[in-house]
This record gives sequence, C-alpha cells and structure tokens, in this order.
Amino acid sequence: MPKKLKLSTPEWILGGYDSKADWEKAKGIKGKKKGKSFSIKVCPKCGSKEVSIVLGGGEGKGSKGWECKKCGWKGKEVGKLELNEDEFMKYLDEKEEGK
Ligand SMILES: [Zn+2]
Repeated sequence: MPKKLKLSTPEWILGGYDSKADWEKAKGIKGKKKGKSFSIKVCPKCGSKEVSIVLGGGEGKGSKGWECKKCGWKGKEVGKLELNEDEFMKYLDEKEEGK
C-alpha cells in the first residue's frame, strides 16, 4: 500500500525544471554546498590558464578579445574550465608562482 507518492521522483522534476542543475541554481543551492565550483578562463588551443583579456582586439569599438600568453592564440571565444575549490586554490598558487 503506498502511503505517500514520494517514491523516487526527484524534487527538481516535481518542480518542473529541465535538469537538476537548473533546479539547484533556482534554489540557490550552488555556493551553499561545500563543493564550490569556480569557472576560469583557459586557452581553447593549448589549454593554458595564462590568458588575458585584450581590449580593442577585434572589430568594432569596445570589442574585447582574449590572448594566450603561452601559445599566442587570440580570439573571442575563450575556453572555460570548471574547478572545484581545491583545484582553484592550486590554480591561484600557480599564478602566484608565475609572477
Ligand atoms: Zn594557448
């Protein structure tokens, strides 16, 4: 006898969200959890994190572009990398060392 219709339907489906990630975002769950994630920019060509923004690099005024200091790549669509907190700390350390 089913006492409650609680079975295994996740809350995010009941809430009408497309994915669990959407639901978490809407609920503001991200960031509260200890497993934070950080998004950093990387070179789409060589994967280096040594990318910097360059102004006026493209067409039109106020255009922004990206430049890789490692391989010399230039473009508008920079790559992204998701890091967890540990990896992000390591990334910051590496940045410090590079100075
Ligand atoms: Zn590169």
